[in-house]
Amino acid sequence: MTRVLYPGSFDPITKGHMNIIEQASELFDEIIIAVMLNPLKKSQLFNLEERMEIIRDLYQNIGVVSGTGLAADIALLYECKAIIRGLRSLRDFDYEISLQQLNRETSHNKINTICLFADKEYQFVSSSMVKELFNLNKDISKYVHPSVEKKMLYKKRSLVK
Ligand code: ADP
Repeated sequence: MTRVLYPGSFDPITKGHMNIIEQASELFDEIIIAVMLNPLKKSQLFNLEERMEIIRDLYQNIGVVSGTGLAADIALLYECKAIIRGLRSLRDFDYEISLQQLNRETSHNKINTICLFADKEYQFVSSSMVKELFNLNKDISKYVHPSVEKKMLYKKRSLVK
């Protein structure tokens, strides 16, 4: 039984993330999604609880946890064999290579990182791009699930009030 951890900010979850989850679920027995607080990402739309709730609404059969700090520590805590990450570009690659080294070293070589590639229509999608388009009142239906778009609209209305 191979359980893997898919960590990320997921602010919000996009169809790019969902494509990676779909691919991972064909390869592994169980996926746990870890919604991480990344202090480097300043402009948050949803808080951790909201992001987790959005993902739980989409996937009733996938475990969703939250965390701060190193993904490797969360992977060890939940007895995951590896960390899943998605690759979009060379910029992602540079970042992921140092992250994977950190996760491998701090877990005493117990946690490996497996990178997957989103299908081509999702390869350029990012949460920040979706938020930017949304703020400009552009159509984001190609990039997020309808239930995510609905939550974004609620959020916008509650922020305007
Ligand atoms: P971002 O805010 O950049 O969209 P996250 O921190 O939420 O990213 O991403 C979690 C993981 O999912 C990272 O490994 C990221 O590279 C990957 N990912 C995000 N969007 C995509 C995509 N469209 N295609 C492939 N991987 C993706």
